[in-house]
This record gives sequence, structure tokens and C-alpha cells, in this order.
Amino acid sequence: STLVDQIAAGEVIERPASVVKELVENAIDAGSHEIDIIVEEAGLKRIQVIDDGSGIANDEVTLAFKRHATSKITDRKDLFRVHSLGFRGEALPSIASVADVVMVTSTGGEGTEIHISGGQTKTQKPAEARRGTDITVTDLFFNVPARLKYLKSLNTELAKIVDIVNRLAFGHPDISFSLANNGREMMRTAGRGDLLQVIGNVYGLNKANKMLAIKGKDADFKVSGYVSLPELTRANRAYMSVLLNGRYIKNYALTKAIIAGYGSKLMVGRYPLAVVNIEMDPLLVDVNVHPTKQEVRISKEPQLSEVISEAIRRQLANQNL
Ligand code: ADP
Ligand code: MG
Repeated sequence: STLVDQIAAGEVIERPASVVKELVENAIDAGSHEIDIIVEEAGLKRIQVIDDGSGIANDEVTLAFKRHATSKITDRKDLFRVHSLGFRGEALPSIASVADVVMVTSTGGEGTEIHISGGQTKTQKPAEARRGTDITVTDLFFNVPARLKYLKSLNTELAKIVDIVNRLAFGHPDISFSLANNGREMMRTAGRGDLLQVIGNVYGLNKANKMLAIKGKDADFKVSGYVSLPELTRANRAYMSVLLNGRYIKNYALTKAIIAGYGSKLMVGRYPLAVVNIEMDPLLVDVNVHPTKQEVRISKEPQLSEVISEAIRRQLANQNL
């Protein structure tokens, strides 16, 4: 029901950035090579995500907006095994229950255009479209005034959108992303599969030039990525990204491990820029219960922390730092 969807939306869809995250993850899961994100007024007025992925078959469009109608996996433990980001089948119905949604999607050939508002399907009809999905969300939270009040300033909401798109781009260097707000381009990546190039696209070339490649592994974990020279630091932790099998995660112990790798080479209160990829057996990951799936627990976390710290330590030593 719409009410159940609205309650779910309260958990999954906190703010415009959550909508962007869910829509972009769907586009990634659909095998897209190019994903364009267009927002107005930090997403409060409009969020549009255009992809060139698989599209949704005409007879599956209605189902895609039904709760728990994920086409992706049947077992939550599959989450890190298959490389799909979504798994709950909650995002589309949640978003459609608290906003106005128009989706045009095609698997190639004649596709479908569907218009849903506040959980009610307004129209659904055949549409000419290229392969892929183009989804536009307007009037976010029009029927949940309490949620609107809780939002921060437009600048803060926009910063959260930029942050999530950056991190999704770090996890997918092979996909070309672009993000624009009110007609102004906020970021763009080339999609050539080169993580350092993505870091340059996101943080600027001068910063990318001050990054060191790191590599490390043991029996359970493989670690790779880039960390900044100790001279390039920031006053907050936000410039450290940890990706687990391609998925951005939040894990305090692992960011601590990055910092620990620098030992005394970092000034107190300063933090490096870092993008650290971890490849590991998905069975060593406990998927956290939270619907946004960003916080995960890892068995053998102390061991993994040491692989990360050691990879950084070794590269700094190689550079005589
Ligand atoms: P989940 O991603 O957890 O499966 P969602 O509610 O986000 O659930 O999406 C529901 C379903 O709609 C997906 O399983 C997928 O089949 C389909 N879908 C959504 N967005 C796209 C897209 N951009 N391209 C192709 N299929 C999509
Ligand atoms: Mg999804």
C-alpha cells in the first residue's frame, strides 16, 4: 500500500541525496556505461537520472514499482556475492510514494512511459525511447511536510549529492558519470576505467598528482587504490573513501587503518585523501540491517586493517617519506 511505502520511504529516502543514490545504483546495476544526473535546487525541485543500461521490459514496469519486487537476488546474503547494489526492491516504490515520478524506459525498441504520483499510477503508455532508463523525480516529499522541514540548506543538500555521486564514481571507474545542478556541471568522469583519472576528475588534477598507488594482500584480502602524500591533507575525514567489492561503505576502523598507515607523518587533526578498494570473499561481510546498506561489519577486521596500514606504510617508505 501507499502507506507502507511511505513508511519504508522514511527509512530509505531521507533526503534528495538518498534519491540520487538509489537511482544511480539502479543505473549501475543495469549495466550502464554512461549515467547523467541532472538536479535543480539541490534535487528539491527536480532529480533526473538518465542511463544507457538494460532498461525495463514493458511488462515489468508496473512490478518494478511494487514493494520487494527486486529482480536482482533472492537472498540478502547474496548482496556482496553478486555485484548488484540494490537488493531490497524498496527504492522505486518508496520514492514514488513521496514524490512525482515519470520514468521512460526501453530495452531497445518501443518502451514504456509511466507517471506515478504519491504512489498512484496516473498514466502508463508505450513510448519511443532509446535503450535505457530516464527517470525524473519532482516534488520530493510534497506529501511529507515533516520531512521537508528536516532538510538542511540547499548548499548542504547539494554537497551530499555531490559526495555520494563522487563515491559511486570511485567504485566504478569504467562508467562515465556527470552531475549538474541548475545547469552548472558539478562533476564529470571519463569512464575509461582508470581510478586515478576519476580522482583527478573529482578532486582536481593537482591533487591526483599527489597521490600514491597502494597495493597489499594476504590470504583473505586484496587492497588497492590511492592515498595522498602526507603533505596533502584535509581538516576532515570526508576525503577518505573505502570501497568493498565496488560498494562504498562506512567503517570507522578501516578509515582509522588508513590514518594509522601514515604513523607520525600526518599532523594531528589532519586527514589524507584516499580511495581504498578492498576485494574479498563476500562471505566475510555481514550486511548490516540498515536499509541504506552503507554500514557493514567485516569478520577479520583487525587483519584487514593491518593489510591497509601496511600497504600505505610500505609505499611511503618506498618514497623515502
Ligand atoms: P532493487 O534495486 O533493490 O532491486 P528498486 O526499487 O531500486 O529495487 O528497483 C526495482 C527494480 O526495477 C529493479 O530490481 C530493476 O529490475 C528495475 N530497475 C530500476 N531502475 C532501473 C534502471 N535504471 N534500469 C533497469 N532496471 C531498473
Ligand atoms: Mg535499487
